Amino acid sequence: MRNSAEVVVVGGGIIGCSVASELAASGVDVLLLESRELAHGASGRNHGLVFYPQNLVTDPLYRLSHGIYRDLTASSDLDIGLDDEPVGFIIMVKSEDQWAAAEREARACEAGGVRIERLDGDQLRAAEPQVAGDMLGGWFIEDGYRLDPRALTLAMALSARSAGAEVRTHVDVKQILVRNGRAAGVVCDEGVVSAKTVVLAGGPWSPKLARTAGVNLEMSGARGWLMLVTPKGHVCDHLLESSGWHVQAGDPGPARVTAGSYGRGEDQAADIGLLIQPGAGGNLLLGGSRIPSLRQDPEGSQVARMIARKAVAAVPALAGAEVKEVWSGVRPMSRDGLPILGWAPQVEGLMIATGHGGQGVMLGAGSGRLVAEMVTGRDTFIDPSPFVVERGI
Ligand SMILES: Cc1cc2nc3c(=O)[nH]c(=O)nc-3n(C[C@H](O)[C@H](O)[C@H](O)COP(=O)(O)OP(=O)(O)OC[C@H]3O[C@@H](n4cnc5c(N)ncnc54)[C@H](O)[C@@H]3O)c2cc1C
Repeated sequence: MRNSAEVVVVGGGIIGCSVASELAASGVDVLLLESRELAHGASGRNHGLVFYPQNLVTDPLYRLSHGIYRDLTASSDLDIGLDDEPVGFIIMVKSEDQWAAAEREARACEAGGVRIERLDGDQLRAAEPQVAGDMLGGWFIEDGYRLDPRALTLAMALSARSAGAEVRTHVDVKQILVRNGRAAGVVCDEGVVSAKTVVLAGGPWSPKLARTAGVNLEMSGARGWLMLVTPKGHVCDHLLESSGWHVQAGDPGPARVTAGSYGRGEDQAADIGLLIQPGAGGNLLLGGSRIPSLRQDPEGSQVARMIARKAVAAVPALAGAEVKEVWSGVRPMSRDGLPILGWAPQVEGLMIATGHGGQGVMLGAGSGRLVAEMVTGRDTFIDPSPFVVERGI
C-alpha cells in the first residue's frame, strides 16, 4: 500500500465516501481506508429514506444532498432506486395524548415547505384500509423518498475512484498519528500512511479512533433493528409511522449510559417506535428503534420482536407476513442531534465528519461537500458553526 497521501479519509460509509468523492473532484490526492467493506456499517443497513430533516439548521445540507442523489441516480451504473415522487408518511395516532407529538412533527415538516394534512379516523382508514380499527387518526406528510442506501454509498465510492481517489477496504486504521500538535497520518497493519490531513468518518467508531489522537468526541452509538417481511397481500401504500418517532430540533439527545445505569441494566432500555415502509416487490421493512450500543456484538436482539409486535398491533394483517431477514445497524449520535463537521480543536489537520444520527443519508452528500470545502480552504456553502466539534454539548 502507498505510504502517503494528501488526505486520508477513515471510513467507507456514506460520509467517508461522500467526502472522498468531493475531495477527489476538487483535485485532491485522497486515500480512503475502510476496515471492513464499503457500507458495512449503518450506511448499508438503514431504511434509505430521504425526507425533510425537520430542522432549519440542516435544511441546506438536506437540499444539496437530495439534488446530488438525483444527479447520481441519473448518471451512476448502479441502481440507486431513488423515488421520483415522495411515497408519503402517515403518522398514526392511537391515543389522545399522541396528537401533540404527531402535530409537532407535521408542523416541523410544514415549516420546510412540505404539504401536510390532518386525518380523522375515517380518512386514515380510507387512505390505509389495513390500519387497526382503534387508531384515532393521524397526520399525512407529503414526503419520504426511498433509495437503496448501500448502492448510494457504493456509487459515491465509484465517483471518488473515477475522480482519482484510492479506495481501500479491509484496512483497519489503528491510530491517528499526531506530531507536534498536528495530524501526521494514520497507522494500520500495513504500516504508516503519512498525510497532512486526516478526515475521521468512522461513524459510531469515530470516538475510539479520535482517542488515539487525544481527542474526545461527545457522541454515542444507537443501534436500530430492521426486519424485512413479505406480507400475504397488499398492506399499505404509505410509510406508516408511530407518533413521536422522528427526532426534531431541540429534542433531548441520547441519555448517557453511566456505570450506575449500566449496572442496573438500563442501557437496554429501548427507545422503540414504529416505521412500516412499503418496498420493492410487495416487501415491507419494519423498524423504529434506538438502543445504546456499547459492544461489538449486537445488543438488544429482542428489540426486533418488540417491533414485530407493534407492527401487528398497528396493522393486524401483518401477523401472517413471512419474516425474511432481521438485521441491525448502529447510528453515530451526537448529543444535540446535529452532525459533527469540523476541525478537531486540539489537533491541527484532523477533520471530524460524523454524528449524523438517523439522518446520515438525508444529509450525507451535503456534509461531504461542506467537509471538502473546509479541507481545501474554500468558502463554504453554509455556515459551518452549528456543526463545530466543540459546541458545549
Ligand atoms: C436502522 C437504521 C435506520 C436508519 N434509517 C435512516 C434513513 O432512513 N435515512 C437516513 O438519512 N439515515 C438513516 N439512518 C442513519 C444512517 O444510516 C447513518 O446516519 C449513516 O449511515 C452514518 O454514516 P457514516 O458514514 O457516518 O457511518 P457508518 O456507515 O457507520 O460508516 C463508518 C465506516 O467507518 C468504518 N470504520 C470505523 N472505524 C474504522 C477504522 N478504525 N479504520 C477503518 N475504517 C473504520 C466502519 O467500518 C464503517 O464502514 C439509519 C440508521 C439505522 C441504524
